[in-house]
Amino acid sequence: MVVVMDGRASAGEVEAVIMRLKEHGFSPHPIYGVRRIVIGAVGDRRTLDSLGLENMPGVERVVPIMKPYKLVSREAREEDTVVRVGGAAIGGNQLVVIAGPCAVESREQLLAAAHRVRQAGAVILRGGAFKPRTSPYSFQGLEEEGLKLLAEAARQTGLATVTEVVDEYSLELAVQYVDMLQVGARNMQNFRLLQAVGRSGKPVLLKRGLSATVEEWLMAAEYIMSEGNEQIVLCERGIRTFEQSTRNTLDLSAVPLVKSLSHLPVIVDPSHATGDRRLVGPMARAAVAAGADGLLIEVHPEPARALCDGPQSLTPAQFAALMEELRAVAAAVGRAA
Ligand code: PEP
Ligand code: MN
Repeated sequence: MVVVMDGRASAGEVEAVIMRLKEHGFSPHPIYGVRRIVIGAVGDRRTLDSLGLENMPGVERVVPIMKPYKLVSREAREEDTVVRVGGAAIGGNQLVVIAGPCAVESREQLLAAAHRVRQAGAVILRGGAFKPRTSPYSFQGLEEEGLKLLAEAARQTGLATVTEVVDEYSLELAVQYVDMLQVGARNMQNFRLLQAVGRSGKPVLLKRGLSATVEEWLMAAEYIMSEGNEQIVLCERGIRTFEQSTRNTLDLSAVPLVKSLSHLPVIVDPSHATGDRRLVGPMARAAVAAGADGLLIEVHPEPARALCDGPQSLTPAQFAALMEELRAVAAAVGRAA
């Protein structure tokens, strides 16, 4: 359930509700909105009536939530959550573009990518330092050296940074160097990892699992938020279907659907969704038209030489041209870009 507090409720009244919930075995999670505070509470519904919450001072109403995900649901919070990463705000009016190579490969490669994507209008730099590859013989990432390069690129360009974490070891290192942590499709149901990023205090980019339903995806976000971290951005990156002619099948309907079910921002990754750079632009434009709060796009200074995901990576010039097109689409749907 969520306890919706009156806009004028005092700190003491909020505290009293939290205490009452704890006394009855609930775990309360206050969510501080712009207009009011709601308290998400997970526990045994059968004891709800005996709590007498409706009669406590400062309480406007008590809303039971039937869905399995609670804190991430729209019922828990009507307003859109805005996730701040460095200077970027994801989930507001601004379309936020995250761009960069699949993997950090070298200083030259990363710095070239960083400067070019910044010039074109990206605000967050991506780059994998720990790569969850399908084959153990493929490039696995530069690990801490890659994280240091991301930090250097951030210093040079002013871009914020995001990188994928795959376990507690990579998480411990990544928090020292980057602004946002990515949980990849393959780890979307690694519940220990979700809890750990939930405790990290960093914003989290949560990709949809390879074959995850919308509900499973939102439950994964619930794991993170139940650890007290509300700074979560959901990323649709295509799902596995019978279709083999694209790498995955981009589920664009998930964008408006998830935005109606949850207050969290939703972005789209047309690179992993299609696996083909010729399809990245059209799907990026469609995603913005469908209401995505941002995009994640792979850009490599020399895609032909990329150690990872070259066929889906845009050249810097292609990326700059796409950003121009996206500005027009964003304007058409009332967004700034
Ligand atoms: C990535 O963003 O580099 C990545 C591995 O994506 P996904 O987890 O969506 O496959
Ligand atoms: Mn990739």
